[in-house]
Amino acid sequence: MTVVRTRIAPSPTGDPHVGTAYIALFNMCFARQHGGQFILRIEDTDQVRSSAESEQDILDSLRWLGLDWDEGPDVGGPKGPYRQSERKDDYKAYALDLVEKGHAFYCFRTPEVLDQIREERKAAGLNPGIKGDLELPEDEVKQRLAAGESYVIRMKVPDEGTCVIDDMLRGTIEIDWSQVDCQILLKSDGMPTYHLANVVDDHLMDITHVIRGEEWINSAPKHQLLYKYFGWDMPVLCHMPLLRNPDKSKLSKRKNPTSVNYYERMGFMPEAVVNYLGRMGWSMPDESEKFTLDEMIKNFDITRVSLGGPIFDVEKLSWLNGLWIRENLNDEQFSQRLQKWAFNAERMTPLISHVKGRINAFSDILPLAGFMFSGMLNLTEEDFNHKNLEEGQVKRVLQFALWKLEAQRHWNKENIFEDIKALAKGMELKMGDFNHPIFVAIAGTPNSWSIMDSMALLGPDMTRARLRSALNLLGGFSKKETKRVEKEYQSLLSVII
Ligand code: GLU
Repeated sequence: MTVVRTRIAPSPTGDPHVGTAYIALFNMCFARQHGGQFILRIEDTDQVRSSAESEQDILDSLRWLGLDWDEGPDVGGPKGPYRQSERKDDYKAYALDLVEKGHAFYCFRTPEVLDQIREERKAAGLNPGIKGDLELPEDEVKQRLAAGESYVIRMKVPDEGTCVIDDMLRGTIEIDWSQVDCQILLKSDGMPTYHLANVVDDHLMDITHVIRGEEWINSAPKHQLLYKYFGWDMPVLCHMPLLRNPDKSKLSKRKNPTSVNYYERMGFMPEAVVNYLGRMGWSMPDESEKFTLDEMIKNFDITRVSLGGPIFDVEKLSWLNGLWIRENLNDEQFSQRLQKWAFNAERMTPLISHVKGRINAFSDILPLAGFMFSGMLNLTEEDFNHKNLEEGQVKRVLQFALWKLEAQRHWNKENIFEDIKALAKGMELKMGDFNHPIFVAIAGTPNSWSIMDSMALLGPDMTRARLRSALNLLGGFSKKETKRVEKEYQSLLSVII
């Protein structure tokens, strides 16, 4: 009998996303329920966007949640290495094998030339997709390779017809081949794309079930074809419904804190977060709202996942967390958890340099540094009053800072400072004036230590949540105003970049 093997395959390109934890949870439950194994593989073939810090953050946050894996980059295992960047030499051979078999071809066209081809095809009323007719005669390929021209390798896909995909939750899904491009498998830098590396590794790691988010459905035809080209058995596919904001849009950091780090920082119990993620599209047979990971595994049945987009609602999670705190922690456990949460070295050490010079006794610390341990702050509109700023400006400062920091991919003091400095310049405000609303939103007072340090330490999600909350307190912008303010922001960006 084959052993069930599932995997979570995050790309380490940002914060540890609650969506990753949600998919990891379902993969883990499925594997455990079948007495199988759950693997963690890091998909870091995009070397520009991947970072070691992000990988560490993902591992730490999944471990914090108790979603332990049997094999992975940190624990090893028989099918390693579990980091794609360490397997990169193998992928090229697989791509070349497909060229050899006539299932893939060299492509020397630059993205600009391909864009032009698309335009021409569109204008002629043809399918603008990148198809196999772009394959060059063998002689020409040889010549170009010999001349050292840069190339990519693309897989061939049918021009027409329908691809039928079987999905454990959705039954059959039909996708028109005309919609599918001849996907790049090997990039010009010799690195594989997600599609090639993912299929090769799932095969080599004996993955039997691919449980992933529905955003990957459109990749399934390419993957299915690759399995066929290689002559390998295809794992069973299962595309989980995407998490959504309360307004039903796709869960995004623009509307909701999406990083697991945020929930840890807010003082949620990992058990409660896992419990809540388990309720995303799934329920216990008796519909109970509160359950442990073990109970979920015991009662797990993936066919009970319902496809209507599950809503990730921070208020509901908060309510559930309250239940967990009250019902599952006795006073001693409460005290231990609280100490671990508040007084761990990671949180305390960076604060010392800021508070040490400003206090005479430890009792001065809480009033000074309380905001570093809070969730949303208790503020009033008047707190934002400032002699040099009108209300419209205050709101713009908060909104522009929020937008700019939402786009910040490398969260550190220097980058935050550059963002803020550029915005202040763009708004023609003195840094001190520009920073006033930010200080109040983040620290609750203009009299605190460097706000850049505070934002760096609080992390992107908490920072954004406080800026958003301050903006809401001041009434935000109406839909119509938002359009105008967005335009102002865009023209400001074009000046400061
Ligand atoms: N690396 C992909 C991601 O970031 C994995 C998708 C999959 O599970 O196939 O989610």
